[in-house]
Amino acid sequence: MTTYISSNLGYPRIGKDREWKKALESYWRNEITEDELKTETKQLRLANLKKQQDLNIDLIPVGDFSFYDHVLDTAFSFGLIPKRFQELDEKSIDTYFAIARGTKEAVAAEMTKWFNTNYHYIVPELNDVTPRLIENRALTYYNEAKAELGINGKPVLVGPVTFVKLSKGYRDTNFEAIVESFLPLYEQVLEELVDAGADWIQIDEPILGTNLSEKEIALIAKVYQQLTASVPHAKIILQTYFETVQHYDEVVKLPVAAIGLDFVHGEHLHAIKKWGFPKDKILAAGIINGRNVWRSDLDDKLALINEIQSITNAETMIIQPSCSLLHVPVTKKTERKIDQVILDGLSFADEKLAEINVLVKGVNQGETTIEHELTESRIARVKLAESPYRQNHQVAKELAQIGDEEVKRSLPFSDRITLQQDQLKLPLLPTTTIGSLPQTSEVKGTRTKWRKGEISDQEYNKFIESETKKWIEIQEELSIDVLVHGEFERTDMVEFFGEKLNGFAVTEFGWVQSYGSRCVKPPLIVGDVSWAGPMTVKEIVYAQSLTDKPVKGMLTGPVTILNWSFVHEELPRFTIQDQIGLALEKEVIALEAEGVNIIQVDEPALREGLPLDQLKWPAYFDAATRAFRISTSSVKPSTQIHTHMCYSEFSEIFEVIDALDADVISIETSRSHGELIDTFEVNDYDKEIGLGVYDIHSPRVPSVEEIKANIDRALRTIDVKQFWINPDCGLKTRGQEETVAALRNMIEAAKKVREEA
Ligand code: GLN
Ligand code: ZN
Repeated sequence: MTTYISSNLGYPRIGKDREWKKALESYWRNEITEDELKTETKQLRLANLKKQQDLNIDLIPVGDFSFYDHVLDTAFSFGLIPKRFQELDEKSIDTYFAIARGTKEAVAAEMTKWFNTNYHYIVPELNDVTPRLIENRALTYYNEAKAELGINGKPVLVGPVTFVKLSKGYRDTNFEAIVESFLPLYEQVLEELVDAGADWIQIDEPILGTNLSEKEIALIAKVYQQLTASVPHAKIILQTYFETVQHYDEVVKLPVAAIGLDFVHGEHLHAIKKWGFPKDKILAAGIINGRNVWRSDLDDKLALINEIQSITNAETMIIQPSCSLLHVPVTKKTERKIDQVILDGLSFADEKLAEINVLVKGVNQGETTIEHELTESRIARVKLAESPYRQNHQVAKELAQIGDEEVKRSLPFSDRITLQQDQLKLPLLPTTTIGSLPQTSEVKGTRTKWRKGEISDQEYNKFIESETKKWIEIQEELSIDVLVHGEFERTDMVEFFGEKLNGFAVTEFGWVQSYGSRCVKPPLIVGDVSWAGPMTVKEIVYAQSLTDKPVKGMLTGPVTILNWSFVHEELPRFTIQDQIGLALEKEVIALEAEGVNIIQVDEPALREGLPLDQLKWPAYFDAATRAFRISTSSVKPSTQIHTHMCYSEFSEIFEVIDALDADVISIETSRSHGELIDTFEVNDYDKEIGLGVYDIHSPRVPSVEEIKANIDRALRTIDVKQFWINPDCGLKTRGQEETVAALRNMIEAAKKVREEA
């Protein structure tokens, strides 16, 4: 007989009404004191623990709470305070926030995406400091949960190898030594936890899902041998997620008490069949998808658990979500507006834990004890599958007709560009922006009023038009060559399209943390996606009517829309991506028909969606290329297609960038200018490029000289005829005044470079 235990890996921090976000932002605006911030977040934290307790979760994570980001927490508790912040108090929460957000004097630490998710962590800087233990955070939270709620929590730590690997300031040659320098600190943390009575301790090493070298695997073995030898009573769950563990047979031999594997995103069923699972260890099986919002097929999940059990034949097995629930919204209970058939098909964090509970009850006490839940789950899934959302067969037919020829522009770039130049008559080093212009509190406030019905559609449209008009005038006055309408009608670049395309649904409260206090509300993809009618034409045409200069059409690309949505598991992702491509193609054609001859299709999520396992890259690249080209290939050769991406690690996706065959690409570069330029030189890129010439992520206005220096540096490697001048991303988070000042300097710098060219 196997005994099953339920577990969770991490709970969303933000609260069902985003209380956490509100508390943090009030504190940053000095509206509440530090004590108030701590009291409010403590209440929320305890309420979250209590909820998990009420949902019968046996192993409740503690220490997964954070005031900003758990990687930053780890760095901060190890005293890794970058030199530029070292005059601040190393224990103060303001120092912690200063590292995350920057101060007037010191730039914030870099932020980057957590594996293949849209969660961003703060990159630890190893250079300036020797690590030491400032605070045992896990212990603090462990003690709190025990004292306040009688919960014997499962402390969660970021493992040493993942932590160092995600940091900056090490080289291949000293990687091992740096990892080892952290081990005494981890030993102390573990020892104190064991002394305090902690039973299970979860150490996250998601890095095991990436392609590691033999040397790195050997290092992992050494690390866990040392940790378990030094703290033999620590019951460690070595937790992995997001992908198949690459060196499965070696990893499961590590001397820890349990191994956590993701059975949703990893091929672990296959792995345990092939390699077995050691008898002396407990398997923590990630069964429920922690990366989406859809109700599980409980029959399927039961079958999976039973199959794993029959292979491992273990005494004990832990049943848990595939990863931390940080990546899903809190609860669907507050949704009021969404179609019932969709609502019944949803499962957010709380509902996922309830599913775990049901499964564990079923396997421990017999399936008859959960008959009711099984029936309910079956009905919900069948109803959704049979709903009109899934009956859009027309789009499948259309897609079936698209062969390789249809996803190619009619002429090669070298011929297209001549036609485009004849039509557009742009100067050397054309200037433009990325799309959005400042979304001031007035813009956001007016939208809220309109959403609440306080102002009419007509009044709202009028306001959007007046904002667009104001900015067309500003752009003309600045002498920008290619104008934008400013995206004032859009809340978010994906949600906006989600509200307009068939096959999508949007939630009211489905928020997920993206970075710091910033949350996003990804739309849901429920069924086949198709174009329901023009989405952006009215606004672009209006903007174009106000000026003789070209105004760019502005769309979000298929890869990004797919990646930043919650796609139903029963839908094949790449097919849906093609369907989005097809819908966008219709929009592109509609824009072109109205005389819009520059159309930008943004793909900022292209890199983030890159699979962790490199073997899966070619399929991903092919699919991304195809979908993008479905949306952009049917235009006339004289119509110029732009794309935009915002990240600087570029070399690994260069191949796909080239294959997209966009006429112009603009990219973010502010943080690693040099490296990026090299990528283009090394690869002999022939199309046009706009490397961001200034960083929009800060309110600072760059000087003409500074911008000119950035342009000059790029022109040392990139041909002046290929180069565009633009800021490095959209301007929606900036204020009007600073934006105008920065753009004025950018135009001035462009003028100077042109004079010298
Ligand atoms: N066009 C979008 C904007 O300017 C692009 C945003 C992005 O790159 N994330 O806001
Ligand atoms: Zn961008």
